[in-house]
Amino acid sequence: MRKNIVAGNWKMNKNLQEGIALAKDLNAALTADKPNCDVIICTPFIHLASVVPAVDAAIIGVGAENCADKVSGAYTGEVSAEMVASTGAKYVILGHSERRAYYHETPEILKEKVQLALANGLTPIFCIGEVLEERQQGIQNQVVFDQIAGSLFDLSAEDFSKIVLAYEPVWAIGTGLTATPEQAEEIHAYIRSVIADKFGAEIAENTSILYGGSCKPSNAKELFANPNVDGGLIGGAALKVEDFKGIIDAFK
Ligand code: PEP
Repeated sequence: MRKNIVAGNWKMNKNLQEGIALAKDLNAALTADKPNCDVIICTPFIHLASVVPAVDAAIIGVGAENCADKVSGAYTGEVSAEMVASTGAKYVILGHSERRAYYHETPEILKEKVQLALANGLTPIFCIGEVLEERQQGIQNQVVFDQIAGSLFDLSAEDFSKIVLAYEPVWAIGTGLTATPEQAEEIHAYIRSVIADKFGAEIAENTSILYGGSCKPSNAKELFANPNVDGGLIGGAALKVEDFKGIIDAFK
């Protein structure tokens, strides 16, 4: 059975002290009222080593928001998958639309990152999704197919089975616009069919596909109620315990 997951993406928010406080507050709230899904927080690199010991690993998993596409060496400013794993983090977001758009991450670069993450025991949360123009042209399925094929089709079925996917329509990220539950279900079902065609029905059934894009407590329940929506990747609403927990509680 695939897992239901609510994952937070803090992006470039919260200094170290604020980040530790947020993690501790979330941990306290979820210790008092246990979630019915897996919960993950993905934080800036410098927070990882402090946030990992600040939370109960049985309740909250911790991840990075990116990792390098190289193993090690003279790559000033980069952080490798091995370094991320050495903090005790278990996850890494890869292919977020902000990384694709602002840092020119191509499918080939992301393929390297995915392989290095897996080689270091990290679970990639791999993001895909179309921009508004592509949705208006009706080519969103082709866009997500190309993103999956370009970075993930070289994986073995065993390695693919370790990946979490996040469908995030770029036009819904941080904009307040959300895909309707019908739009989300339609493309999530398509994504699952792509996985089934390439890696087989069993792996497709077991792959968690998260929705991301202006998800909040008021819309999470109807989005997550869809059979092919297995939770959410949450940006803005992950920065406040009350909002993030409100989304987690959509699974209750
Ligand atoms: C994201 O960046 O992954 C995201 C979904 O952001 P937001 O929830 O703020 O739209």
